Amino acid sequence: MPDHAPSLRFYDHALARFSRRELLNAAWTLGLAAVTPSVVTRTLSAQMAFSEYPFTLGVASGDPLPTGVVLWTRLAPKPLEGGGMPMASIEVGWEVADDRAFRTVVQKGTTIARPELGHSVHVEVEGLRPGRDYFYRFRVGREVSPAGRTKTAPQAGAAVDRLRFAVCGCSHYEQGYFTAYRHLADEAVDFVFHTGDYIYETRTRPDVVRPHNGQEIYTLVDYRNRYALYQMDPDLRAAQLSAPFIVSWDDHEVDNDYADDHDEQDTPPEVFVLRRAAAYQAYYESMPLRASQMPRGPDMRLYRRLTFGNLVDFNVLDTRQYRSDQVCQVPGTNDCHLIGDPSRSIIGSAQEQWLFGNLADARARWTVLGQQVPTFARDFDGTTSPVRWQTDKWDGYTASRARVFARLQETKAPNPIVLSGDVHLHYGADLKVDFTRPESPTIGAEFTNTSISSGGDGTAQIAMWETLRANNPHLKYHGARRGYISCTATPETMRADFRVVDKVTVRDRPVTTDGSLVVEAGKPGAVKA
Ligand code: FE
Ligand code: CA
Repeated sequence: MPDHAPSLRFYDHALARFSRRELLNAAWTLGLAAVTPSVVTRTLSAQMAFSEYPFTLGVASGDPLPTGVVLWTRLAPKPLEGGGMPMASIEVGWEVADDRAFRTVVQKGTTIARPELGHSVHVEVEGLRPGRDYFYRFRVGREVSPAGRTKTAPQAGAAVDRLRFAVCGCSHYEQGYFTAYRHLADEAVDFVFHTGDYIYETRTRPDVVRPHNGQEIYTLVDYRNRYALYQMDPDLRAAQLSAPFIVSWDDHEVDNDYADDHDEQDTPPEVFVLRRAAAYQAYYESMPLRASQMPRGPDMRLYRRLTFGNLVDFNVLDTRQYRSDQVCQVPGTNDCHLIGDPSRSIIGSAQEQWLFGNLADARARWTVLGQQVPTFARDFDGTTSPVRWQTDKWDGYTASRARVFARLQETKAPNPIVLSGDVHLHYGADLKVDFTRPESPTIGAEFTNTSISSGGDGTAQIAMWETLRANNPHLKYHGARRGYISCTATPETMRADFRVVDKVTVRDRPVTTDGSLVVEAGKPGAVKA
């Protein structure tokens, strides 16, 4: 592999957009002697001296393709104070190697960390070999980042024997340590799917494990500082060093239970979208995402498709940005008849059409829908729950769910597997054409991950589990501790190992497997492993 081929193209592209005025301004800001523009970025990089380490937020990689991956970092010598970088564009070097010691560097290049994007960088490396481990790191001035491990996807259509991935989400900084992220890191999976609630937007509260930085967050700088607080956590950083992430968001990356341009407080939509724009920008700046996910004002296209040989076709869905507002959320409300209204949607019509197209040409052994909130029904009736359904989930959008399930049947998309999070409980469930009729066909299975730490330690089993299971015979497993799911896909089976730690209010507890489910290809539905 020639050292510079793909990277030079990126370099030229970056330089072309890097004006002479910008370069000189940068040189001035940094107190550097005047230098000629042709060498200025290199000079900046060579002379940039940091009094504090700039790679405080670690590094990450994401969205693996057969020949490429996104490499991410964000320069932040003062991470909790907006980053602490000079207001100038800074050249950052990167390299990708075959080995952890960087003896065989297969690609290297430079990119520009811009103040407009909080000095984050998103390098889209191309020209790598499929299905291979790689190691990467960044350099700015004399400072070198930690090295991350990543992995490219297998060649499209190629036979793949085995793929291992983790599913995680809901890491609340105040409610517990991120021990589960640390254990996830030890598994060195092929990729991690994050179901969202990567941060929580809430103000700090009394009597917590460790406090949030400040009040509820609204501005771009607020969101940057909150992401920084989370990414300074060594367990989170270890998880991101261990494998490429495929990220999706849920509500708390913006505001609890928001729906499109509606928040919980009934803020005027034209005002709320200003907050959404700040939140989406900070999310983009903080995640290993491609330029195709770059936000445009309050909009950001996060739904996308990734394929892993002939084994897994992975559709990442966004159930927040386009959804109809929730209905029937509080007892005594008179809008419960709208739960099944066909004009309401949880993914919006454009994303639905995109998904329907993907399902029509799904060819891999497993068709995965990776998203945020449970699609399977949870009927809480007969318990102390104030309402029968939790209508922030697909249970509040039953026509939308019926359309997706009908499309799965109609297209015969192979072996549907849904991944979800949000509810801070582990679940394994069968997906039914009609959840109220146990005899109706099973069309697939769903694995829901509990939280990394949200909700604190959790319990061995929730008190209402027996009632819940009686009302919902499609539930196959349930766990109420913190943790993540470790999944193994082969041509024959999809296995989910539900990993848990017994406490997150104290550090360094060990991980155990609380339960395991297996889906056999061609036999929809999960059984105990
Ligand atoms: Fe959550
Ligand atoms: Ca959530």
